[in-house]
Formats: sequence, C-alpha cells, structure tokens
Amino acid sequence: MKRVPRTMAAVRSSVRSGASRLVDRVRNRDAPRDRQALSSLAGEVALRTFRREEVLSHQNQIFEDSLRLSRSFSGPNFKRVGRDDLVRMVKMYDARFFDGKVLPLAAAEGMDFSISSRMTKVAGKLVTHYPDGTAKGKRRFELVLSSTLLFQTFEDQGQKVEVTGRTCMNRLEAMQRVVEHEFVHLIEMLVWNSGNCSEARFQSIAKRYFLHTDYRHSLITQRERAAMRFNLRLGDQVRFKHDGKVLEGRVNRITRRATVLVPSHRGELFCDGRRYQRFYVPLEKLQKAS
Ligand SMILES: [Zn+2]
Repeated sequence: MKRVPRTMAAVRSSVRSGASRLVDRVRNRDAPRDRQALSSLAGEVALRTFRREEVLSHQNQIFEDSLRLSRSFSGPNFKRVGRDDLVRMVKMYDARFFDGKVLPLAAAEGMDFSISSRMTKVAGKLVTHYPDGTAKGKRRFELVLSSTLLFQTFEDQGQKVEVTGRTCMNRLEAMQRVVEHEFVHLIEMLVWNSGNCSEARFQSIAKRYFLHTDYRHSLITQRERAAMRFNLRLGDQVRFKHDGKVLEGRVNRITRRATVLVPSHRGELFCDGRRYQRFYVPLEKLQKAS
C-alpha cells in the first residue's frame, strides 16, 4: 500500500494534539534515513547480547501469541497463512528484541510485507528497492514469505526440518526462523545499506539475537533431500524389492517415503487409463531403473 504524503501542517497539528510517543512516530515517519537513529541502532545491534533462555522465552511467547491471535492458523501446522500473520509476527520481533525501534525507521522509508505462493526457491526474502536507481537515493523495503515452501514441508506427522541451523517441528516454528533471518537482513540494509547472510556481521547478529547457527534459510523439502541424497525425482523409473520380488514402477510422490506406482491389473485405475498398485518405499531402498 502506498503511503499518502502528509503536509507539514498536518504533521504540526498532530504533534500539537498528541502525546510525546506520537511526536516520535511523526518525526520518524517524516525523517527517512535519520542518521542519528540509525547509528544508535547500529551500535546496539553490533553489541547487544541476550541470555539463551531469554531468546528462547521470547521466541516461545511469539509462537503462542501468533497461534492465539491469528485468524488463519488452525494449529502449529497451519494450512493457511495471511499477510496479517506475517506483519504481526514481525512487529512482535521488533517489540521484544529491538524495543520497537526497527519498524518505524523502516516505515519512514517505506516497508511492505507480502506472502508469495510463486516463490519456490527460498522461504523468505528481503528486497530493497531503489526507485531513483541509486543506492544513495530513496529506498523501500519489502519482506516476502513463501507460503509454497512452508506448505511443502511438514506434510507428514513428526517431520522435522532444519532452518537457520535450528530444528523446527512445525510450520509455525519454520516461519519464525525465516522471519528472524529476514529481519536481520532488514536491519543490515536499513543501517548499513549492504549485507549478506554468508558474512560475519550478519551471522553474529543472527546468533546473538536468535541463536541461529546456519545462514541457510531455504526450507529443505523432502523432495529436495531425495533429489540431493538419492538422486531421485518425481517421474523417475525405479526398482525395489517387495516380498522377495523385484518390482519396477514410477515415483509419484515423495515425502519421507516415495510413493511408487507399479503397473498391475489388480491396481487402481489412474487417469492415464492404466491400473497401478501403490507402494510406499523408503527412499534408500529405491534404485533407479534407467
Ligand atoms: Zn539470507
């Protein structure tokens, strides 16, 4: 959503009518790239440390509050996620870890949030737009979360996924880790106008604030794991042993196990007009047939 520019008269009148907190907000909104505020934030994020239990307790509270306040979440392995869930979560992080200082500074320059179902390579991203075409000019930040990657994982009960070096038991935990990672990107861009999660400064912040031990933030799906470790993809022709016989079929689905369709006159009728029996085979038991 575009922010409507306010006239100075409007600013003055709201300053007069409001409390001092409002004055701060107005000042922030109207002072993009406030040098003093940004350098004080830089000093803080470069040094601040938290006790491990403190971080875990904040993260836990954000987990609970997200579940309680969301209109979309049916549980930790939710099937829907709204933009409002993302915005609320980012605000909670700002409030608990940065005393609410980061978002007003970002919003002074322009801050958008979105959920994307088309983003399939990374679970989240932080984009800095430079509408003037120069890094010294105006900026606008955009934090995007991939719903597709979240929904592709935790399809099975008890599945665990590693994000940012931490084991996640469900979608909500994974979403938190991704949001934390992107939040660190936002801070680096805001304060230093540069940054990279493969570098020391990023990793130091991510570790001190959120206990991240790895900068990789893509959710490794079972499908990707299968592709990497076992060189298996959907549609591959495979062989496996079943009751002492070797069967051959096609990989139809990959979760923790692969669903292999084996042609059989006793099987179910599929949309290609043929009959197949389904077998659920552990990935390591499959052999490529061709
Ligand atoms: Zn990153």
